[in-house]
Amino acid sequence: MFDKVLIANRGEIALRIQRACRELGIKTVVAHSEADKDTKYVRLADESVCIGPAPSAQSYLNIPAIIAAAEVTDSQAIHPGYGFLSENADFAEKVESSGFVFIGPKPETIRLMGDKVNAKAVMQKAGVPCVPGSEGALPDDPHEILKIAKAVGYPVIIKSAGGGGGRGMRVVNTEAALLSAVTLTRTEAQNAFGNPTVYIERFLATPRHIEIQVLADQFKNAVWLSARDCSLQRRHQKILEEAPPINIPERTLVKIGERCADACRKIGYRGAGTFEFLYQDGEFFFIEMNTRVQVEHPVTEEITGVDIVQQQIKIAAGHKLTFRQRDITVRGHAIECRINAEDPKKFIPSPGKITLYHTPGGPGVRVDSHAYNQYFVPPHYDSMIGKIITYGDTRESAIARMRIALSEMAVEGIKTNIPLHQQLLMDENFVRGNFSIHYLEERLKTDSD
Ligand code: ADP
Repeated sequence: MFDKVLIANRGEIALRIQRACRELGIKTVVAHSEADKDTKYVRLADESVCIGPAPSAQSYLNIPAIIAAAEVTDSQAIHPGYGFLSENADFAEKVESSGFVFIGPKPETIRLMGDKVNAKAVMQKAGVPCVPGSEGALPDDPHEILKIAKAVGYPVIIKSAGGGGGRGMRVVNTEAALLSAVTLTRTEAQNAFGNPTVYIERFLATPRHIEIQVLADQFKNAVWLSARDCSLQRRHQKILEEAPPINIPERTLVKIGERCADACRKIGYRGAGTFEFLYQDGEFFFIEMNTRVQVEHPVTEEITGVDIVQQQIKIAAGHKLTFRQRDITVRGHAIECRINAEDPKKFIPSPGKITLYHTPGGPGVRVDSHAYNQYFVPPHYDSMIGKIITYGDTRESAIARMRIALSEMAVEGIKTNIPLHQQLLMDENFVRGNFSIHYLEERLKTDSD
């Protein structure tokens, strides 16, 4: 096992990784920006290194500074968390060529999955069903583009091969709007991701976003850890997640889960990963793979009892998985609410000082957050300040516990989206499990009318 791991991330996930390391007896180094230097989680780490000023481009995305921090602290491995450099193949390569272990998949796997056109092709070959759409990237010829979209059938969604974080997508309802939308998406994709490649998929009307969590070691052992429903989204960003997903026949779920584990073995996947699908009318359609730990990993941990972050570290250290698929059992139900520092109605970020902070507790309540009383939420980063996760024997119990947890949670000085979660947890359609990926936005629209 490693003696010392460098955490190249911030906020709740930096603390989460730190906790996993401590339990494994590993010392931690937090690489942080100037804006995060006075935080509690930085002080809790064994060591910390300031890697640059507040803007991410100069700190959390600064590859030479992170490598130098690992060198001066004699770290053996680097955990990238999520976001920032976690899916940057050049970073993973640089980590390895500098003599450190990258806690994640091989750089070539990250590169492959980072291009969604390639990822879909690989998955199709591995027997994973994909959303019907263009075969690969769209060509330049406008006539060809029109022909492809017609064959796919309107409405279509134009997506960027290099896209992520819900950006670089555009829905097109009619043929007349197609070509200008393709041009616009290409330009945006070039500017945002440095890659103008776009492709087309059929735009599904009422799918749910269902994802399969996998773990694979370096010896081609792979398991899937049930699934999560992440349909409640705003602007393609997840807000509330749960596990396991309800109203999906067990047989259908097992079939897709096994396909995913099998695909991991076929492509020599290493580490934790997530296969994202749209699920509609009893069918799964692959959309992309995330080659890192995800924000919503705790709901899976709660229902399977597997510590996903510890597993990532063990796998990176060359350990074999100590359990097989038949050892994975799912118990109960878990829900996660992402707590964001933002206006609950207008969604404008609300950074600033937290003047009062009280977290909920009790049976089945877990809070993953780096925030505390008097913590200053910096304006430079993502607005998520933590997650509340509740667990119960049944979905009803997890919902009831979440309602109580949200009512106990107190954050003053900044605005948060807690009121939005409270509304959602009382929403009849949510409670009945009657929602698709478009549900939250439609509901917000009717609320503001
Ligand atoms: P990103 O990498 O930016 O998260 P994804 O491909 O994972 O992009 O898609 C994000 C979200 O966009 C999905 O969860 C879903 O809500 C929506 N979406 C993507 N593809 C489609 C599609 N073909 N039909 C309908 N919605 C889609």
